[in-house]
Amino acid sequence: MERYFECVECGYEKAELNLKEHCEQKEGKQICITGVPRYLCPRCGEATYLLKVELEVERIIDRCLKNGSDTVCTVGFMEKNSDSGSLNNNAIV
Ligand SMILES: [Zn+2]
Repeated sequence: MERYFECVECGYEKAELNLKEHCEQKEGKQICITGVPRYLCPRCGEATYLLKVELEVERIIDRCLKNGSDTVCTVGFMEKNSDSGSLNNNAIV
């Protein structure tokens, strides 16, 4: 992933890559994904997520919901599952 990205909110060109834990409650489960990449704008404070990152987050959440009975699910964003991942292979350059 690029180190900098343009802020969608104010157009500032150097929103900086930054990793954040993403947690949400869904269907009675607490799902935490660590190390989710996003771009944080130093000017307006807005965080921008790439579409592929959003999709991957949804996929991880989906997998957690289908996965057994644990009520708390913590997953590392880059810790990949075995199915031929999209992100792992080509995202971080
Ligand atoms: Zn901004």
